[in-house]
Amino acid sequence: MRAFNIPPTDTEAALKRAARERILILDGAMGTQIQSLGLDEDAFLGHGGHSCAYHSDHPQKGNNDLLILTQPDEIERIHYDFAMAGADIVETNTFSSTTIAQADYAMEEAVHDLNAQGARIARRAMDRATAEDGKPRWVAGAVGPTNRTASISPDVNDPGYRAVTFDDLRRAYGQQIRGLIAGGADLILIETIFDTLNAKAAIFACFEAFAEHGKRLPVMISGTITDASGRTLSGQTPTAFWHSVRHARPFTVGLNCALGANAMRPHLKELSDVADALICAYPNAGLPNAFGEYDEGPDDTAPQVEQFAREGLVNVVGGCCGTTPDHIRAIAEAVAKYEPRKLPSYTDA
Ligand SMILES: [Zn+2]
Repeated sequence: MRAFNIPPTDTEAALKRAARERILILDGAMGTQIQSLGLDEDAFLGHGGHSCAYHSDHPQKGNNDLLILTQPDEIERIHYDFAMAGADIVETNTFSSTTIAQADYAMEEAVHDLNAQGARIARRAMDRATAEDGKPRWVAGAVGPTNRTASISPDVNDPGYRAVTFDDLRRAYGQQIRGLIAGGADLILIETIFDTLNAKAAIFACFEAFAEHGKRLPVMISGTITDASGRTLSGQTPTAFWHSVRHARPFTVGLNCALGANAMRPHLKELSDVADALICAYPNAGLPNAFGEYDEGPDDTAPQVEQFAREGLVNVVGGCCGTTPDHIRAIAEAVAKYEPRKLPSYTDA
């Protein structure tokens, strides 16, 4: 494939070197940390923080990504806390920073800045942490699934209808990825994939953006298993999911979010058995309770993630919804004594 004629960034070699030596640590949930700040509408708009150059008639409370522009110091502090808790890789706060997802808040205009600034803030936090302890750290540009699905109709009476097309997604993801690259992201993390067609649009957009940039960033691809039968929302098993994204030669493939670590384990095992890429897993802190909160503490989640490492299933681990810096610290300590998973037939090509 032509995309692989684009030379990789220097980061890729450093990441692969680190991943051969140990299990790498990803950060935890940004949403949980933001929630704990108890910000009101004024805070989301930046009153008392940094004013935002973009205007919208829609309320912005809940638009967590917007805090990159309106409360950058808070977001930088959260990244820094995760880094000091042991994260080698932190995710930008850009899960919903596409025109498609920002349409809910009429904030489409802000998308480039959200991504570029989101990457810069994370980089700043990593550089501060590295200045203290000398450990290298990387910024993963987070690319979420959007709130629309390309392969399933949202209308039960019209199964042929689609709320979004592959090309809509490709364009929106392209804009996001260019912003993340402009802000200095080291990797692109396509995450919480419930619809593989959405992810394929994001992968395609990556290659287009890398071709323009003249360098190929490492790509992490993370699906989510949304039901106990072990399939994504678009109906794929982990094996089918791998074969759908393998052409991207990702730095990691894996699973995040959804059912918590114990329920994730069999699906992770299946993926680990078939994938000739590094494996990344970052589960939620268990299942949400009736209030949508996550009850697992660090001492509940860490031993479950340790089990992944003991069984040799993982190369990168972290946390998704409900996981705090304390969860990440406990996970990092729990997996430190295990060797990273060996690839079935790995080549550096
Ligand atoms: Zn999650």
